[in-house]
Amino acid sequence: MPGYARRVAGYGTTIFSEVNAMIAGRDVVNLGQGRPDFDGPDAMLQAAADATTQHTANQYPPGYGIPALREALADHAAQHYGLEVDAEKGVLITGGATEGVFSAVVGLVDAGDEVILLEPYYDTYLRAVQIAGATPVYVPMEPPAWTFNPDALKAAFNPNTRAIILNTPHNPSGRVFSRDELNLIAALCQKYDALVISDEVYEHLTYNEAQHVPVSVLPGMAERTVRVSSAAKTFSVTGWKVGWAMGAPELIEGLWRVHQNVIFAINHPGQYGVLAGLNMGQAYVEEFQAMYARKREILLQGLDAAGLRVTYEPNGAFYVLADFSGVFEGDDRAFTQHLIHEVGVACIPPSPFFSDMHCHLGRGHVRFAYCQQDDTLHRAAERLAQLR
Ligand code: PMP
Ligand code: GLN
Repeated sequence: MPGYARRVAGYGTTIFSEVNAMIAGRDVVNLGQGRPDFDGPDAMLQAAADATTQHTANQYPPGYGIPALREALADHAAQHYGLEVDAEKGVLITGGATEGVFSAVVGLVDAGDEVILLEPYYDTYLRAVQIAGATPVYVPMEPPAWTFNPDALKAAFNPNTRAIILNTPHNPSGRVFSRDELNLIAALCQKYDALVISDEVYEHLTYNEAQHVPVSVLPGMAERTVRVSSAAKTFSVTGWKVGWAMGAPELIEGLWRVHQNVIFAINHPGQYGVLAGLNMGQAYVEEFQAMYARKREILLQGLDAAGLRVTYEPNGAFYVLADFSGVFEGDDRAFTQHLIHEVGVACIPPSPFFSDMHCHLGRGHVRFAYCQQDDTLHRAAERLAQLR
């Protein structure tokens, strides 16, 4: 029997599915996969439901996405960041941010080009780079503060660099990139005529003084950046898989050429649901941020009480990396297994988000996600306290 292609032979199961399989059938509080245990806003659920029962959205939508949603996204970019985006040809509705990043890499990067990945990186980035036949170039962000060495970044850029994939606020560290860091990335991209594929799925999750700055707002960057984001996290609808990519029409055309052959168009009722979400405006965003600021505190206190050391207090996204060396001897995978089996809490080992060369940087930490109801987080904290 013919088997699968050599291209995918080394891919294995993603760490999220691996941890979910470890949990199956056990009494475990799941702080692993970034998957809320609560629903998105009623207005969105209703709008998506109405779009099906009113028979307005049960057939193919336009391949780029419904015009009203593309316009609402262009307005969102203008209001929040002062960005000017062409709603007709500069916005593409994608199958989550995952497809947005994939189509950006495959549609804009040639075989043999180099793509810079800051480690730890979201796992699908590497696969997209490999499928495009491009070469990943790794720049590690190191604990305790999960920052990169500017000289290492400068050394990674060269005339073969086609793109850098940026993710801020960052998964898994929860770090929001500083303006200095973004300025350096922007300067290097301009020097080497490279693109930024900017994954901003946590754009509305920042804490304390931190502010999310899309790299496209920096001078000279709008024309060389594809911003990717998603309804998954901002509206707590990870199951909808509605995301988007925006940028200069010439770049978005590259994504479109992939998109139309992989999926052509995205879930039509879901697009009406997301439109209703965007129409909730700033009041929703503020409430959402306040909700997550509270959840962040609950988890940070729980980790502290358990003797899990947070060397870097995250100022974005909904993850925290904790150093477990005070309570366990072993690596991140062994600790994850211990936590699931003996404590009844799940987390994600971050070493799969690093290249082999740098995966030691992730081995002493595990990632906890706090996109859970407050009660769930309190329950996790009670269980984690046994680690002491
Ligand atoms: N990028 C990052 C950094 C993520 O954490 C996630 C998970 N939400 C994704 C992309 C995937 O997003 P989506 O579910 O919209 O495909
Ligand atoms: N983005 C989510 C996380 O980092 C997981 C998405 C997935 O399971 N692929 O936890």
